[in-house]
Amino acid sequence: MIGIVVVSHSHALAQAAVGLAGEMVESGPRPTIVVAAGLDETTLGTDAVAIAEAMGEADGEDGVLVLLDLGSAILSAEMALELIDPDVAQRVELSSAALVEGLVAAVVTAAGGADLSTVRAEAEAGLRGKREHLDGGGEDLSRDDSQPQAGFAPDARAREFVVGIPHGLHARPAARLVACVNGFADTRVRLRNLDGSDRDVDAGSLSAVASLGVRQGHRVEVRAEGEQAEQVLEALTALADEDFGDGSAAEPTGEREASSDGSRPEEAAPVTVGSALGSGLEAAIAAVLRAADAVDAADYEGSGDPGVEKGRLEASLTAAAAELREVAATTRDRVGPAEAEVFEAHVALLRDCAVTEPAFLDIADGATAARAWKRAGDVVAATWAELPDEYQRARAEDARSVTDRVLRHLLLGGEAGPSKPLDDGRHILVVPELDPATAAQVDVEQTVGILSIGGGATGHGVLIATARGIPVLTGVEQAAELRDGTVVAFDVRRRTVLVDPSASQRGDFEALLAQRSSQQDQDRAAAGAPGQTQDGSFITVKANVTSASEADQAIRLGAEGSGLVRTEVMFGGWSSAPTVQEQVAELTAVAQALGGRPMTVRTWDIGADKPLAFWAPAAEQNPFLGVRGVRSFVADPALLLDQLEAVCRVALEHPVRVMFPMVATVGEVQWAWEQLSLAGSRLPDGVPESLEVGIMVEVPSAALRAEAMSVLLDFVSIGTNDLTQYTLAAERGNAGVEHLFDPLDPAVLGLVARVCGDVAEGVSVAVCGGAASDPASAALLVGLGVDDLSATPVAVPRVKAVLRRHTTQHLQDLAQRALRCDSADEVRAVLAGLD
Ligand code: PEP
Ligand code: MG
Repeated sequence: MIGIVVVSHSHALAQAAVGLAGEMVESGPRPTIVVAAGLDETTLGTDAVAIAEAMGEADGEDGVLVLLDLGSAILSAEMALELIDPDVAQRVELSSAALVEGLVAAVVTAAGGADLSTVRAEAEAGLRGKREHLDGGGEDLSRDDSQPQAGFAPDARAREFVVGIPHGLHARPAARLVACVNGFADTRVRLRNLDGSDRDVDAGSLSAVASLGVRQGHRVEVRAEGEQAEQVLEALTALADEDFGDGSAAEPTGEREASSDGSRPEEAAPVTVGSALGSGLEAAIAAVLRAADAVDAADYEGSGDPGVEKGRLEASLTAAAAELREVAATTRDRVGPAEAEVFEAHVALLRDCAVTEPAFLDIADGATAARAWKRAGDVVAATWAELPDEYQRARAEDARSVTDRVLRHLLLGGEAGPSKPLDDGRHILVVPELDPATAAQVDVEQTVGILSIGGGATGHGVLIATARGIPVLTGVEQAAELRDGTVVAFDVRRRTVLVDPSASQRGDFEALLAQRSSQQDQDRAAAGAPGQTQDGSFITVKANVTSASEADQAIRLGAEGSGLVRTEVMFGGWSSAPTVQEQVAELTAVAQALGGRPMTVRTWDIGADKPLAFWAPAAEQNPFLGVRGVRSFVADPALLLDQLEAVCRVALEHPVRVMFPMVATVGEVQWAWEQLSLAGSRLPDGVPESLEVGIMVEVPSAALRAEAMSVLLDFVSIGTNDLTQYTLAAERGNAGVEHLFDPLDPAVLGLVARVCGDVAEGVSVAVCGGAASDPASAALLVGLGVDDLSATPVAVPRVKAVLRRHTTQHLQDLAQRALRCDSADEVRAVLAGLD
């Protein structure tokens, strides 16, 4: 039997209509009727999320008929259709029937076992009896004029394109598509994701386009009707050919770094090298400035006049848009053009009729401006949060941020950003969660630290801020209680927060900062000396880099070469695969910046959390255990062979090491060698003699078989990020298992020790994972037998300084104690005071 959903502005009205209809069925089975009406029992309004839930509840496989009252009920129900599972949405029909008459007819017909189309037809003919009686009948009332999505004429023009960009049509490229469509007047354009749900949407609406869930490789059909139909199709095809401008942002300099590779915060810094750096002291003291008080739409006092409310919302939208344009301009200067576009997409959302219209309709129905806007924004965020692609899902954060910005204008009359800077303007920013926009945008001269009430230490915002040298402490719940102007001191290394410190506590903290700062000066001054322990054993301290300018900065900070060039990050913004010549040029630039010091090029480490625009992985249930790293090229090694050829060519002129990621078996080491030889055969003299060959040890099987693998190699490099993930079965970016993900876990240390002990004579053991960037962990690794470290550039001086303070024997003793510990915390206690 079909189910029925009743959508109304009034809970009481809906209940009464259901009661009346129920009276018409005497006995026997009745259809399930679910009511989604009113904002609560007494407040008038409609709520798309509640309607979506009702649709799900009423669905019993035979279909669902939705009966609605007027205005925003229709729009909310249409939005609800976009929120629910597409399979269920296919079985749901919105009816234009009059609510009471239609419901009565529908309940009676459905109770008789009729199918969905029969019930709908009966419901829509429900007024017939009344009209015949009062007007003498006649007119066909089953026509559905209320549906705004009238279909296209059969001769509408259509095209199809395939989306090649890694994250599909997420907010930024979607905003460019929408801007393009809206540039053509008198033309109606609709899009359909041919590889998604069978729904088509208005191409002029950002929220609607982003809700299609178009992912890399999906085919999109675009249909246009109107005066400039042909031109709009041409323009859209050209835009799709240019990957919606998404690939070009990083080309050709390679300076922009992918922010989506899932690295730990201490790893690949996704900030333009050369932008101003914060203190890097991992501690701060200053007065608190709240990013913005959390605003609650319920605190807004409505005027009671829909005209006034509409005017207020319009003014707030305009003010928020102006503010966002300014933010975009600052971000462009301080961080980069690609990051600035995030805010241009926010402006597009403010102008999106699919978001603003439901809000205006709600206002006309009596809602306050704040409630109406909040509801409209929540619908967009909820829609995006349901998308299948993780990256696209994360854009719901953008929708929430835009919603809040406008609400703050409505509630606080323009105090939308942080309130006025205090004293000299230096402050500790308190945020509910550190979003990438805030992290990229804050002025490091003024924002000396950031406290985040929620969120984990691995979020992208934290990643960006940390890379900018700003101390960030996350998960500080008590920060929610802090008021602007309260002085706070916090230390990331010890995870301590002091609220309103006494004069003597302040003095102590200032002394700590002064001491760290002078230590930093000393460390930087001494960073040019070779890495070694107190007793003179040399430990090479290199840097992980992704561009020539970062390599340049690393050398200035004392790096002795690069132990990891993440090529998938270096070329992460390219929309098509770089040619061999292009790779030679990019890698040569890095090698030159390293000035004759070794450069360790890791071959494409793709799959799971590391996308490349020019490489489309097959969908997998569990990508972290799937086709990743070297495995990606077994079926088709072309991309790898080109890279290896480029590496060989650069090795003719510079000291180069090549390293294969995610190796799990001895057979894979042999296979990697075969590919290298094949690529070398493209050069007149084969693989250059000077090229050193190694693998990353990131999989426990590689650690356990280090001896057999290393006889084929010059070096191995332990990737503690992935080795930790696979040893503890704790996904590296998953906050739910963050407590297990700890490179200091004795099990991980045991594998490191085993690799150091087992490798063949003369094979060096390096570590390029995040543990090498933490000075105490780095020292412990040396105690375990590692002689080559590769850290994030800013960590290099301190790692070198800590090593210099301890003898090899002392570090070896500590390592033996650490191996006997039962937990990472115990290991940490063993290391206390080391740095
Ligand atoms: C690692 O796994 O430790 C590593 C260095 O590689 P990535 O972080 O790039 O996966
Ligand atoms: Mg790895």
